Amino acid sequence: MQYADIIVDISVENLDKTYQYSIPPALCADAVIGVPVTIPFGNGNRSISGFIVGLSDVPKIAPERIKSILGIKDKGLPIEGQMIALAAFVKEQYGGTMNDALKTVIPVKKSVKQIEKRIVSSAVSKEKLQDAYIEAEKKKHKAKARLLLALMNSEEIEFEDIVNKLNISRTTINSLKESGIIQIESETKYRNPIASKTTDSYSISLNYEQQEIVSKVLKDYEEGIRKTYLIHGITGSGKTEVYMGIIDQVIQSGRQVIMLIPEIALTYQTVVRFYKRFGNRISILNSKMSAGERYDQIERAKNGDIDIMIGPRSALFTPFKDLGLIIIDEEHETSYKSEMPPKYHAREVAIKRGELSNASIILGSATPSLEAYKKAMDGEFELFHLTKRAKEAKVPMVSIVDLKEELKKKNKSIFSDLLRSLIEDRLRKKEQIMLFLNRRGYAGFVSCRSCGTAMKCPHCDISLTAHSTGVLKCHYCGYEIPTPNICPVCGSKYIAAFGTGTQKVEAMVLKEFPTARVLRMDADTTKNKLSYEEILSSFANGEADILIGTQMIVKGHDFAGVTLVGILAADLSLYANDYRAAERTFQLLAQAAGRAGRGELIGEVVIQTYQPEHYAVTTAATEDYVAFYEQEMNYRRLMKYPPAAHIMAILIQSKEEEVVILAADLLAGAVKEWLKAKVELINQDKPDEQNKFIEQGKFEFKEQDKFKEQGKIENYLENNEQDDNKPNISIIGPAPAGIAKMNDIYRRVLYLKEEQYEYLVEVKDFLEQYITVSEYFKKCNVQFDFDPMNSY
Ligand code: ADP
Ligand code: ZN
Ligand code: ZN
Repeated sequence: MQYADIIVDISVENLDKTYQYSIPPALCADAVIGVPVTIPFGNGNRSISGFIVGLSDVPKIAPERIKSILGIKDKGLPIEGQMIALAAFVKEQYGGTMNDALKTVIPVKKSVKQIEKRIVSSAVSKEKLQDAYIEAEKKKHKAKARLLLALMNSEEIEFEDIVNKLNISRTTINSLKESGIIQIESETKYRNPIASKTTDSYSISLNYEQQEIVSKVLKDYEEGIRKTYLIHGITGSGKTEVYMGIIDQVIQSGRQVIMLIPEIALTYQTVVRFYKRFGNRISILNSKMSAGERYDQIERAKNGDIDIMIGPRSALFTPFKDLGLIIIDEEHETSYKSEMPPKYHAREVAIKRGELSNASIILGSATPSLEAYKKAMDGEFELFHLTKRAKEAKVPMVSIVDLKEELKKKNKSIFSDLLRSLIEDRLRKKEQIMLFLNRRGYAGFVSCRSCGTAMKCPHCDISLTAHSTGVLKCHYCGYEIPTPNICPVCGSKYIAAFGTGTQKVEAMVLKEFPTARVLRMDADTTKNKLSYEEILSSFANGEADILIGTQMIVKGHDFAGVTLVGILAADLSLYANDYRAAERTFQLLAQAAGRAGRGELIGEVVIQTYQPEHYAVTTAATEDYVAFYEQEMNYRRLMKYPPAAHIMAILIQSKEEEVVILAADLLAGAVKEWLKAKVELINQDKPDEQNKFIEQGKFEFKEQDKFKEQGKIENYLENNEQDDNKPNISIIGPAPAGIAKMNDIYRRVLYLKEEQYEYLVEVKDFLEQYITVSEYFKKCNVQFDFDPMNSY
């Protein structure tokens, strides 16, 4: 018998209230997660509707007490059903409970009071109203008379105004309502976050490259073809105009659009650009809005009051009824990956939502993620290029400065001779300068300033991180060595951890260029609501000469006055302790370089680095993405890093150190047993029996015995030659996480590498079952992270 978990009220408070029903055999084929059903409910068995949120063949109570589903309402998923199906996908792909997944995709905030506007008007003819007024005067019902007089003078008055301005009590108003003289209508007033912004008309004619993309996508759209497109367009090539051209047609066809942009790029300028074109059919979501404001926007989308929702990651779950298109701008941004469980990636979930809602997906970036570009190369996505800057601005001149040479010249300042002289030149000419420093990854990375050697893990090819205890550690495998005093390659004593922050840079700028007007922008200066935009607009208005910033590269801002961009130490991100370091460096350099020369004047870019020959630096200097992609993919293939393979990180946390250590070992052991069993089943040609195998409890973990077995399992796997269809999972760790203890909670991490994502999903399912049945895991928290964005 098949059973379904059914939810009867989709509101955040009730997501965990599910009821189990049996599925009549005739309905089994159509009973999938998300479909609306009718069920007999309560003692009277009245028939009500609900949605299937889970399926199983295990009854939760005595089978004879389980009622049966009456029917499936219609085929085709309504929006609620689509969101439930999307939640099931999130749970399956990223781990965690269905309840957590539902809470992620159903972004309704509970207990938010709606602002209700109540309008009072006359319910009777003018004459009758007048009669009522005269009668009230006679009876000396002063308040009543006041209200009736007011209504004789104006057709409708707001309830609140009657109470507050006319000083009339609610009882009086209600008694007039009861006698049928007045009526009160309520009108829900949604807060519109952009209502007050300007509307000018909008007209830009697309250039040839832009028009080609718009035409192709719309041709597909009209023919009913839905797929994922990747637009690789250099900075300033006019991607946003392309999006708007396509959006225009999609909303004219009566369907809706979600556009994701990184929170950091959700600036006033960007929003106004959309607002000018689409008026108040658009809305935005962002984290600075109150819960009430966010709730209102979601309601407006549900009610069909808007057609376009713009926002960061979570805007993906806007409950539009007839979604036609999802755009993900700057698709390479790490903020599209959730850092909280379920650790989903918006790009992947968007593609699933597109499938469920029959919508197309457009990804855009000047520096696409390797994941997206590989899929485009593999033919899964359709690839477009925008190769020219839209405004015919000149591509900037880029110089690479070798900082090792500067040290030889005894220049120990953070400015190379070239950069210093160019800064002086721009200050003289009253042109603007941007100085970038990548903060990510600088902390703790150790390198030699004489020869450029960086201290790396011999096993993982990842930079080691300095710990205050005087050791360097690999955050992937736990390898550690004492922090060296001299460079192991050249013997120089200039080997040290990097630690230049933006504040220090600011101090040095002020010291070397005392007349310069300097603005600094980083997480510290932009904590409050407006300062980020204030800094940018004040710089755009020419109120400063130099802007110092971290990787907060801004979209929606063209700084026409900037003719020099300096990147102070490109390597800082190159040696970050994860495998995406080169990709991030390339992105930072290419995007930063793209900031120069947006106006009439030609721009210049200076990249300072200890590794001038590194491909991430040289390819970024020429904005040659394809060359970068090819080199980097070779590295990922060699090392089996995503997207050549997949990684599943398992983070184990507990208050007790022994618990995390043993739990991590148990999980590593369990993975090995799974692997052994899986390979055996594949050898016997029945790979699908896996699940049955687990459910029947054949995987029993006697926690002490197991380690004796382990040696055997490893030999077994080595002797059992691999072919492409078998899982070939490498287990890295367990090791203490980079932050091994956080708020008194110990953290250990285990990485699994495997070429086929599906096998990792199977391992995750298996481990989740293991964790629920084993008492041991009650004392710790286990989180899964597929293709993690940051190392733990
Ligand atoms: P991207 O999103 O690729 O960085 P934008 O769409 O922001 O590029 O375009 C960069 C600048 O070029 C903007 O100021 C935009 O108004 C302008 N622009 C884009 N397309 C055109 C066009 N076809 N004609 C004139 N200006 C354009
Ligand atoms: Zn050295
Ligand atoms: Zn290592």
